[in-house]
Amino acid sequence: MREARAEGGWGVVNTGYCSIHPSCDDSPLPYCRLWDDEDIKVHELMVNGVHRHGALAGVELWHGGTANLFTRVTPLSASGVSQSTSNANYMSLTQSQPMDRQDIRNLRRWYVDAARRARSAGFDIVYVYAGMGYGPYQFLAPWMNKRTDEYGGSLQNRVRLTREIIEDVKEAIGQTCAVAIRFSSDDLLKIPGETLHSEAHEIVSMLSDLPDLWDVKSADWTVETTSARFCEQGAQEPFNSFVKPLTSKPVVGVGRFTSPDDMVSQIKRGILDLIGAARPTIADPFLPRKIDEGREDEIRECIGCNICVSSYHMGVPVRCTQNPTMGEEWRRNWHPEHIPPGDPEKSVLIVGAGPAGLECARALGQRGFTITVAEAGEELGGRVTLESKLPGLATWARVRDYRTNLIKTMGNVDVYRSSPVSAQDVIEFGCDHVVIATGARWTRQILDTNEYPGSEIEGDAVYTPDDILAGAEPEGPVVIYDFDHYYMGSCLAELLRQQGNEVTLVTPANAVSAWTLMNNELADIRNRMNKLGVSTVTEHYVTGFSDGAVQLVSNYPESDGCSIDCGSLVVVGVRARRDSLYQELSSDADRIADAGIISLQSIGDCRAPGAIAHAVYSGHECARTIDADGTIEPFAWERARL
Ligand code: ADP
Ligand code: SF4
Repeated sequence: MREARAEGGWGVVNTGYCSIHPSCDDSPLPYCRLWDDEDIKVHELMVNGVHRHGALAGVELWHGGTANLFTRVTPLSASGVSQSTSNANYMSLTQSQPMDRQDIRNLRRWYVDAARRARSAGFDIVYVYAGMGYGPYQFLAPWMNKRTDEYGGSLQNRVRLTREIIEDVKEAIGQTCAVAIRFSSDDLLKIPGETLHSEAHEIVSMLSDLPDLWDVKSADWTVETTSARFCEQGAQEPFNSFVKPLTSKPVVGVGRFTSPDDMVSQIKRGILDLIGAARPTIADPFLPRKIDEGREDEIRECIGCNICVSSYHMGVPVRCTQNPTMGEEWRRNWHPEHIPPGDPEKSVLIVGAGPAGLECARALGQRGFTITVAEAGEELGGRVTLESKLPGLATWARVRDYRTNLIKTMGNVDVYRSSPVSAQDVIEFGCDHVVIATGARWTRQILDTNEYPGSEIEGDAVYTPDDILAGAEPEGPVVIYDFDHYYMGSCLAELLRQQGNEVTLVTPANAVSAWTLMNNELADIRNRMNKLGVSTVTEHYVTGFSDGAVQLVSNYPESDGCSIDCGSLVVVGVRARRDSLYQELSSDADRIADAGIISLQSIGDCRAPGAIAHAVYSGHECARTIDADGTIEPFAWERARL
């Protein structure tokens, strides 16, 4: 995965946070380790891959701020102040132990040991992580550092540990590796300094040229990874723009940069020396190379949806809406840019041009097959075209645009709009492979209180997201019943509120858009709902809608039911496959065979409704395997060896 980034032209490829000792364990979240010499080999695989393409490899050495659920080592901190959280997923039932002088000596030694291992693995840049509530940052931050010894109190004292660690690491490996600092500035920018504007300014000024590189960002990961729905690219600028005047060493920062112009602007305006990126590299590992070669039109731009972030919370390899090969480079041997050629003599009919159909067409087109895409609607893009019109989701149209832009350049892909396809059309068309990508529709179905599928709620004033996206204007006040738990419920609330309706959002979960805890949007959605004056009712099921009121029962069996007066109900819950075409064709194998069709398959939401990422993945997988002989595709996985 990281080698692909180096090949794609990124100058430096870093690990994520890398624990230096078993007293820093972030299980069950995925993180890397350099705990002993055995761990070196693992990193060598990455470093060698990165070096093969002439890039530098960096490692973010990190300690502290964890609950150590796996190792059960008592967590260490500056003063026993643990990181607080109101999310049960991240709560720990143990507090941390304030570090004494021996602990500090140990920490300094662990950093040096890990740095030496990093050098042995071949890393070129070794980071000291002094941000995000981790060890050295806890000493810098006065709200976490309550010490009365030489490591607490004055800023000079609070900076001491960070300085010592950087000096130790430089002394150990500084001859051959650059030593960088990753620093979180935003909360420290709020504390007035004695001589400079803020304590953040003073910290940078004190350490100034000691590190070889400054990497500066916000402390809160949910701020750093704010989705496109809630911020533009370059949103970290207020947190790193003050650094360059205080050091002669280079400064790097992130900001979900996908626009080359915005990147150049950062450099020209003297904000950053180096453009950092995580999500843009996930969406397009080859972004720098495409800029370098004047192929900006081919950049697969990040849409800022944060599906990648959710993979981290779920502890699985990174998934991406835009880049279906992400996380599959080694596991499935899928390269982000290259794909094995197919047989140009073979023709494929793809029905439906949503994310699944378009990705399938793009990838099959790249393979050289002869492709026809038939789309019922006038516009291409299916659900992304509709959903990108919702408040804050304009960037989602990039899922369509990246693919249609490339397809336009392919002589072997014909696209027909306003072309609804029937089973008879497919039979008469005459092609080798048929791919049905006709998507899914929202239903009015609700669940019972055991969350088993219930009946559909009938009535003229009951709407689905499809109705609203098609322009229906429900009479207010509107109740939105959301048990989809992702973006749709709150986006519709926003839209209907903008249209002047009184809106109440009801959900059986304990928060609005509860799943978005996983993609770091939860707090932003809550704020947005509050700001817009959307009323929310959590932990309630809708049981019916009659006489101008929605009936509800709470999640708790012993409580009474209640009702909300309203003019309309919007149900955001279950989607149904739009698969009648596929069912009709697949139910008659002889008819298919007689028409000379070698394979017929459904993909995307037509096969199993899901997030856009699933549809894109499904389209890509189909394109890779359409001519396979039926054997299962390779899937590599890790085995623990004792
Ligand atoms: P997915 O997310 O799986 O790509 P979408 O719902 O976004 O699904 O897209 C499905 C597309 O298929 C829509 O643009 C829809 O207009 C189109 N479609 C549905 N039925 C037909 C049909 N019979 N013929 C052609 N296109 C169809
Ligand atoms: Fe960007 Fe979404 Fe891909 Fe993450 S999952 S890199 S936010 S497109």
